[in-house]
Amino acid sequence: MDECIFCKIANGGIPTDFIYSDENVVAFRDLNPQAPVHVLVIPKKHYSSGIAVDDPAVWGNLMSSAVKVANSLGLEKDGYRMVINTGEQGGQTVPHLHLHLLAGRNLGWPPG
Ligand code: AMP
Repeated sequence: MDECIFCKIANGGIPTDFIYSDENVVAFRDLNPQAPVHVLVIPKKHYSSGIAVDDPAVWGNLMSSAVKVANSLGLEKDGYRMVINTGEQGGQTVPHLHLHLLAGRNLGWPPG
């Protein structure tokens, strides 16, 4: 996945400040934040979207890491939202599975 920007971020090819990292997952700030806190949590292994995930452990690692990041940022007090845009109608623009962690303001519902 030489061309994948999130693979490059995950493997250090693009220098990025990780706010969380373990053997399976990295988390970093979104380039174009949609809320005061906007973090992306991604598996290091390339999956083009959630549709391509073939191992339930990927979901477990992604979600549990996102909760760790939320707690490390103190977001449990006021709450937060986790979003995984999937495919064209889901609004996905980067074809590497990623979870958005959004917080720091009242988030509208339904989403656009
Ligand atoms: P999505 O639309 O769900 O695929 O989300 C892709 C997200 O990746 C968007 O919120 C972008 O702002 C973000 N993004 C794209 N390139 C980068 C980058 N190099 N570093 C951080 N965030 C990025």
